[in-house]
Amino acid sequence: MEDIKQIWEEVLELLKDKIVATTYETWVLPLVPHSLEDNCFCVLTGQNLAIQILQKNKKEISKALSQVCKKDVFFKIIYDEDLHKQLEKEKQQAKKEEEKEFIKNLEKKIVSSKYDGLKQMRSDCNLNLKYKFDNFVVGASNKFAYAVSVAVAKDPGKQYNPLFIYGGSGLGKTHLLQAIGHDILFNKPKLKVKYIKAEEFINDLVNSIAKGMDKTGDKNKKMNEFRNKYRNADVLLIDDIQLIEGKARTEEEMFNTFESLHNAGKQIVFTSDRSPDKFENTPDRLKTRFQMGLLADIQIPDLETRMAILTKLASDRNIVINNNVIEFLASVYNKNIRELEGAFNTISAYSSINDVPITVDSVKKIIGYNEKRKNVTVEGIIDIVAGFYNISVDDIKSTNRSAKTAYARQVAIYLAKELTNESFPFIGNCFNRKHTTIMYSHKTVKTDMQTDRNLAADINKIINEINK
Ligand code: ADP
Ligand code: MG
Repeated sequence: MEDIKQIWEEVLELLKDKIVATTYETWVLPLVPHSLEDNCFCVLTGQNLAIQILQKNKKEISKALSQVCKKDVFFKIIYDEDLHKQLEKEKQQAKKEEEKEFIKNLEKKIVSSKYDGLKQMRSDCNLNLKYKFDNFVVGASNKFAYAVSVAVAKDPGKQYNPLFIYGGSGLGKTHLLQAIGHDILFNKPKLKVKYIKAEEFINDLVNSIAKGMDKTGDKNKKMNEFRNKYRNADVLLIDDIQLIEGKARTEEEMFNTFESLHNAGKQIVFTSDRSPDKFENTPDRLKTRFQMGLLADIQIPDLETRMAILTKLASDRNIVINNNVIEFLASVYNKNIRELEGAFNTISAYSSINDVPITVDSVKKIIGYNEKRKNVTVEGIIDIVAGFYNISVDDIKSTNRSAKTAYARQVAIYLAKELTNESFPFIGNCFNRKHTTIMYSHKTVKTDMQTDRNLAADINKIINEINK
């Protein structure tokens, strides 16, 4: 037994520089040497996927084994259920420890600042520990909103006041808004942070008006309480402000709250599903207040960012997911991170309960994906892009090189790659072009979008059109 262990240790030493570091750490290190019989060196794994993943390193490992044993030795991996259970237990334990550590550090920090910030975080500021800057994945679509949110958290009330973040549903507005709150609570615990959903503001106002007079006969008591509650904040974070649109009394109170806080140099951050100029029924004086600081939009994240979000989710939860699966999921859920996350949760729960490996095929079954029902096709995209730029489908597929056509063509190519699960060669056929041309166009648009906000906005509009 000692022998086997020693052999394996020497082999590991040899392999360390030969196998890609992540593969080595994730898949090779956890292997447990088991036996050496008839020139076959057997190791156990508790991770089903290891057998598949290490297939390509088998030769390398056998070579190292042969070198150490000074004879021809073959390498074999066997899946071991007990080891699997033990690994799972360790993972859970590590996660619990990590959470404990996090809370402990948080408490330490707050105690040392002599301020009962933790209590505040759990009660009146309404923040959810889940939403932080460091678990927000940054890509071209949200880079700007992220950067200004960080700036606001660093220096509340100074630079961008109000900050108005807007974008479609499930794209990370609430996440950023709460991350601002957290960051301030952590780093400036003396400041009073208040996060509210606009809906609560409306309900609270309605209740205050309805209750009106109290027992002592003070007619304005409830309203004063209402006003003080919001005007005491140093940082007021208001989520989904679009909900107050057209509610005249709420808009008036919001205006007054805004004026009072803003004049006192307090920070206000709004999120909304649309930009202020799309608030059709809101009085101009409130609209101009929304616009007087900084407007930051969040767009639909590109495929790469969606994949990065999934990768982060998987690593945070210690779940190993193959890249094919990540790419597949990211291409199916292409308009809303909440849905992407939801699908991920369903899949990880299902596979851990039923102990099935997560593969593209099993994922298709779990999410009820039906290829035939999939309605976003390359042809469909070409059609919509052609309509958007007012040119014909034939032009897009032709060799026409006029600037307008070439531009629309590149946009269509970019979207075809982003929104479908098709390969570059397949898309190439649809556009009558080589797959290298398709790869080049995709990359060009992706890069341009980062600096050209008009292009990014066009693409966002087209995606919404496609998803209708
Ligand atoms: P919105 O308020 O815009 O509707 P949310 O902020 O509620 O969207 O985001 C929906 C979900 O997606 C949340 O669980 C959030 O953590 C996650 N999410 C959104 N954008 C990102 C991102 N860039 N990185 C990591 N998670 C994200
Ligand atoms: Mg939200």
